[in-house]
Amino acid sequence: MSGRILVVDDLIVNRRLMEAMLQRDYYDVAFAESGEQAIELALRDPPELVLLDVHMPVKSGLDVCRELKAHARTCHVPIILITANGDRRARLEGLSAGADDFLMKPVDSLQLSARARSLIRLKRSADELRRRVADGQRLGLSNDQHRMIFGQPSLVVLDDPSESARALGAGLEASFRVSYVDFAGLAAGDADQADLMLVPLAARHCDPLAVVAKMQARESSRDVQILCVGGPSEAALATRALDLGAHDILSTPVDGEELQARTGTLLRRKRQVESLRMQVEESFEQAVTDPLTGLYNRRYLLSQLQPLLKRAELGGPPLAVLVFDLDHFKRVNDRFGHDVGDDVLREFAARIASNVRPTDFVCRLGGEEFIVVMPGTNDDYAALAAERLRMVISGEDFGVRRGGVWLRVTVSIGLACSENASFAPDQLLKQADQALYRAKQEGRDRVAKAA
Ligand code: GH3
Ligand code: MG
Ligand code: MG
Repeated sequence: MSGRILVVDDLIVNRRLMEAMLQRDYYDVAFAESGEQAIELALRDPPELVLLDVHMPVKSGLDVCRELKAHARTCHVPIILITANGDRRARLEGLSAGADDFLMKPVDSLQLSARARSLIRLKRSADELRRRVADGQRLGLSNDQHRMIFGQPSLVVLDDPSESARALGAGLEASFRVSYVDFAGLAAGDADQADLMLVPLAARHCDPLAVVAKMQARESSRDVQILCVGGPSEAALATRALDLGAHDILSTPVDGEELQARTGTLLRRKRQVESLRMQVEESFEQAVTDPLTGLYNRRYLLSQLQPLLKRAELGGPPLAVLVFDLDHFKRVNDRFGHDVGDDVLREFAARIASNVRPTDFVCRLGGEEFIVVMPGTNDDYAALAAERLRMVISGEDFGVRRGGVWLRVTVSIGLACSENASFAPDQLLKQADQALYRAKQEGRDRVAKAA
């Protein structure tokens, strides 16, 4: 995997060292020799990752970190702080300044490579979601006022006696609902709903890498953020775990504050992705939904009709469409007002939608025109269904003005079927429209079949 990385260090030796390590993985590397220059470069052309030395004259790495995380253009760029060994305070401050990770000097090239890969991968998938949300917003499909309500975060610990897993879990009980799971429970899906999972790399009862792989393999558990815990003797395991999809590594002996900071960062990241995903789903929903009735819209109809007709043309089951137009609907508006007209449209939509098969779908074409698409349906069956739907409307008056007024509503229906019509969507719709026109001419409140 390649990617664009900005290396920030005031010493040329360190910059050269980083360059050598990163070029082995074919990263595209840019350099800054001061905090000021780093900010200038990052704002001009945001990289996919920043490797940031903490100790620099004038503007320290922590200040740079805070500034980049506060700026809209760079707040989503992951930052790895490079700290001197034993600089515990700087590490903790860094994590609370928004740094995504830190590495200690001398930087281990395997660790650097694994962390860079994992952070860039995460950033790209979040960027993709953000792009789709932004597209939706540009098209006016969703608003950015969106807020999700989250419950108490939950964390599972892979239960293993070797790593005093229970002690780890106990340290997090103030911020998480903590539970313990063994490999069998994990396979049964017991960890799937958790926000975070702690995996001791020294686990003896099961292979910790198999745990990470299993969590990543299944769709249902892929979003659980995995934090592996291990000491220097598990360094190689840690690197493999990151490659397999673990999200972060915590070194032993565990520092309580670092544990809090890392779990906090992982949780924040997960919430962000969840809320982005929800926004994408909502904007997709809105793109294909008619706001008045909640039915599908014309865009959805056209996207579905083409492949269904193609299947019929290739010898698959026939497809029938029913086009509906309310009779004398203008009179409802004229007599009772537009709001009552809207109520009638909603009630009409609800009656039709609750009287078709699950495989059929109903769309509002616009105004007071609707369509039911019936896959796997021949002409004769469609005619029976159309007659039944006509009765569902005319058979019982519509209560409007909160039931104060009862209206008789009728509908005319045009039917066309791929069996004896064209396989082109616009042709099929045109035939149904012509049939509808005939139903109107012949007196309304009736079904007419395409000739
Ligand atoms: P016909 O039996 O020939 O179909 O007569 P009609 O009155 O139903 O047909 P026409 O096409 O003349 O009028 C359709 C009316 O539907 C006119 C328009 O104001 C109304 N309409 C279209 N969209 C909406 C809507 O979203 N809400 C309301 N309340 N009325 C709508
Ligand atoms: Mg009309
Ligand atoms: Mg009408």
